[in-house]
Amino acid sequence: MDISATRFTVEPALDVAGSTGTLRISLSALKRNYSKLRTIPAHGRIGAVVKANAYGLGAEEVSKALHQEGCRDFFVAQFSEAISLRSALASNAQIFVLNGILPGAERLCAEAGIIPVINSIEQFKNWSLVAKHLGRKLPAVVQFDTGMSRLGIPASQHGRIASMLEEEGNLDVLFIMSHLASADDPASEQNADQLAAMLAISETFRGIDTSFANSGGIFLGQAYHGALARSGLALYGGAPSAKGVGDMERVVSLEVAVVQTRTVPAGTRVGYSAAHVTSRPLRLATIAAGYADGLPRSLSDRGAAYFQGSRLPIVGRVSMDSVTLDVTTLPEGTLQLGSQVEILGPHQSLEDLATDAGTISYEILTSLGERYHREYV
Ligand SMILES: *Cc1c(COP(=O)(O)O)cnc(C)c1O
Repeated sequence: MDISATRFTVEPALDVAGSTGTLRISLSALKRNYSKLRTIPAHGRIGAVVKANAYGLGAEEVSKALHQEGCRDFFVAQFSEAISLRSALASNAQIFVLNGILPGAERLCAEAGIIPVINSIEQFKNWSLVAKHLGRKLPAVVQFDTGMSRLGIPASQHGRIASMLEEEGNLDVLFIMSHLASADDPASEQNADQLAAMLAISETFRGIDTSFANSGGIFLGQAYHGALARSGLALYGGAPSAKGVGDMERVVSLEVAVVQTRTVPAGTRVGYSAAHVTSRPLRLATIAAGYADGLPRSLSDRGAAYFQGSRLPIVGRVSMDSVTLDVTTLPEGTLQLGSQVEILGPHQSLEDLATDAGTISYEILTSLGERYHREYV
């Protein structure tokens, strides 16, 4: 039997009506954040970090919007992300792969016009070999590790790289880069340590640009700016610094639908494992988002949603597909089937939710689920 004939077909637009959560992404706020960041470095430009699907917001939509705003430098983490983005962006946009390129992918990388970040001597040699085979110069970014011990060529090896570059002569190094480990904390001594290491390296590569600052680094002052900053979080409205500097405009809001309400007496068990037992009569509302939708399970009995400014605490465990809220503060009948409560918006920032969940705003953003209806405004 051909079961495909019996399948229901639904117009994509109709999922708006049945959607239980709406993720609104303001591309105009994103663009304003970009314009704002661009005014900060006196001599450098701002590149966009659009890895992990632009922190969950949609790499293609975000990158195109930023390209319209004049952004020409886009950073992803993985080669696969670069491949997907390449065809979506105009050829005057450069796409860089932060995690570098794995053996075997170099040729495809060169042919696709994607620029790898070279993180090791081995990668340097492999990329150089492909350039030799193709008989042309290939662009590259060389990353040095200035103290994070994550990615990049050890700072002590920079002299060796400089000589290899001269000998091989077939790589066009667009800039050298490094990444700050503590840029969100302006008081951290690690910032100055890393800057000193970076300046020492750049002495050897005179005439080649540097890229150093992430969002937090942009707010550490002129010395950190280099020729090209790499901003992610601040573009998406996250706070780039723990000290509250750099007030960015909110880009994301999230509303989730109420799928059930009930009133329970004192002594009622709520949710999995009866982790919460009510101490008084409560009005409860169950909403249609859970840990599968990016509300961390660590929000169990912590954190809240909001309705017109009223705080609605989470009661009991966060389930996979739902969370139960205490809505007793609202007049009876205020919330009904289909009412929308605010998870992210004017009353609750990314940082608020992240703090309640014991995590960082980056993790909240990148975990936002696939089941929300996404609206670009
Ligand atoms: C993720 C990342 C960034 C962007 O960091 P934000 O804090 O989001 O601005 C910049 N550079 C590198 C190397 C990264 O991995």
